[in-house]
Amino acid sequence: MPTRVLSGMQPSGVLHLGNLLGALDNFIRLQAEHECFYFIADWHALSTNFEDTSKIRFYVREMLLDWLAAGLDPDRSTLFIQSRVPEHAVLHLLLSMITPVPWLERNPTYKEKQENLEGRDLSTFGFLGYPVLQAADILLYKGDLVPVGVDQLPHLELTREITRRFNSLYKPIFPEPQALLTEIPKVPGTDGRKMSKSYHNTINLSDSEAQVRAKLKTMVTDPARVRRTDKGNPDVCPVFTLHKSVSPQAVIDRVNRECRTAEIGCIDCKKLASDAIVGRLTPIWENRRKLEQQPDRVEDVIEAGTARARAVARETIAEASEAMQI
Ligand code: SF4
Repeated sequence: MPTRVLSGMQPSGVLHLGNLLGALDNFIRLQAEHECFYFIADWHALSTNFEDTSKIRFYVREMLLDWLAAGLDPDRSTLFIQSRVPEHAVLHLLLSMITPVPWLERNPTYKEKQENLEGRDLSTFGFLGYPVLQAADILLYKGDLVPVGVDQLPHLELTREITRRFNSLYKPIFPEPQALLTEIPKVPGTDGRKMSKSYHNTINLSDSEAQVRAKLKTMVTDPARVRRTDKGNPDVCPVFTLHKSVSPQAVIDRVNRECRTAEIGCIDCKKLASDAIVGRLTPIWENRRKLEQQPDRVEDVIEAGTARARAVARETIAEASEAMQI
C-alpha cells in the first residue's frame, strides 16, 4: 500500500509567494513519492469568515488555478473541494461526540486567534470545533502522513488523540496519522514582517510582473542604511532574507558580500530579487493564462477529484458507522 498524504488549504485569500515556497512547492514534491489527497478547505474558511462569505467561491477558483499552474498534477494527486464531499461533515459529527470540550479549549491557537483576529466574533461552536473537522478531514481518507510545520504539531496531536479514543472505544479502524515535518522557509513580506494576507504585505501568484517589481521597490531594507554610500547589514534586511528563498546561490553570495562594502545599492539589490521572483513565477503565469482559456478544465479536474475522494470517504463512513453500531 502506498503512503497516503493528506493536506488542505483555506481559501481565505489569493495565494502568495509565502504559500508557494512554504506549502505548495512541498505538495508538488510529495506527489512524486506518495498518494496525495489535497483539498480546498472552504468549510474551514467559514470558521473565521462566516460573516462575509462573498469572496470564498472566488478564492476557491483562484486557488485551483494556482495549484494547477504551479504544477499539482490531477492525474497523480486527488484534488477536491471539501464542501463537495459532505462525508467530512458526517465524520466531524461522529468525532465530535467523543471529543471532550477541554481538549479543544486548550488548543493553543484557539485563544491566540481569538485575541489576535480583532473585530471577529470567534465565540462560535464552529470555531471551537475546527480541530475536530481537521481530524475528520484526515481520518476520512485514513491519511498516514500530514505535512506540517513545527507550530502545527499540537493540532496533529489532537487528531491523534481523537483517533486513539475512537479506536479504543469502538474498533481500531483508523491509522494514527504521523507528522511529515516540513521546514517552512521564512518568507518576509514587503513590510519586513512574515508574508501574510492579514498584513497586506504579500506578493501574489496572480500579480503581474509590473506589480511584483513595483512591490519590491517599496520593500523595507536595513533601516541603518540610509545613503547609497552607507555599508549595509544583510543579516537584518528582509530583502536579503527573500533572496535566500528565491535567488541563485551566486546572487545570494554577491549580495551578502557587496551590501557590507556598499558596492551594491538597495535599488540594484531589489532588482536582482525581482528578477529571481519573476523568473520563478513566469512559468506559473504562462500556465495560468493557458488554463484561463479552458474554462471547463478546472471544473473537470474538481469533478474527477471529488468522485475519487467521495468513493474513499463513503467507505470510511460505512466502516465508522459499523464500528459505532449505528
Ligand atoms: S543592499 Fe540589499 S541586502 Fe543590503 S540593505 Fe540594501 S536591500 Fe538589504
